[in-house]
Amino acid sequence: MELLKQRIQEQGKVLDGHVLKVDRFLNHQIDPNLMKEMGQAFADKFKEAGITKVVTIESSGIAPAVMAGLILDVPVIFARKKQSLTLKEDLLTTEITSYTKQETKEVYLSKKFLSKEDRVLIIDDFLAKGEAALGLCRLVEQSGAKVAGIGIVIEKAFQNGRKKLDEKGYHVYSLARIASLENNAVTFVDEAAC
Ligand code: 5GP
Repeated sequence: MELLKQRIQEQGKVLDGHVLKVDRFLNHQIDPNLMKEMGQAFADKFKEAGITKVVTIESSGIAPAVMAGLILDVPVIFARKKQSLTLKEDLLTTEITSYTKQETKEVYLSKKFLSKEDRVLIIDDFLAKGEAALGLCRLVEQSGAKVAGIGIVIEKAFQNGRKKLDEKGYHVYSLARIASLENNAVTFVDEAAC
């Protein structure tokens, strides 16, 4: 998605050669118009996949997921990182190791929102080692629902998450694929050469 790549080049900051900070439009301040374009791109890609629900994880996956859900006209569910008084019973749970926080935590999703009839589009902001996306797949599959696709805003193609998802046979679509963050510069995958 050219618009997204342009924003990454203009406003993204590379940290330690492997982390991209995009707090100007995705991870802190959110650009709703850009989110709308992203939602449209995901919806266009998966419009024939019979999607009945969109599933993401709090917090940065929520904005693009809501936009995709709006256009696909399906509910959006986000996995929660903390239990609470209102989130106690009949839960699907799995452990996810956070790439940026370097800690493993249980995540939760209420059983009542998914059933075996559902075809789910999973959406997340970044794909690095695949922990978050695979964790969301486990939650969805625990419910008996099918993962019909995975939409990623920014894929760091130099890390192994994509390979893990491909090996498991998931259909992955990323809006921007980064080949390298070396020397604090963002280089995108040359899609024409793939
Ligand atoms: P994974 O689980 O695939 O290893 O990493 C994806 C998750 O870690 C995303 O949900 C995202 O929150 C976070 N993440 C991974 N890499 C980056 C990055 O370069 N920048 C930011 N902002 N978040 C990242």
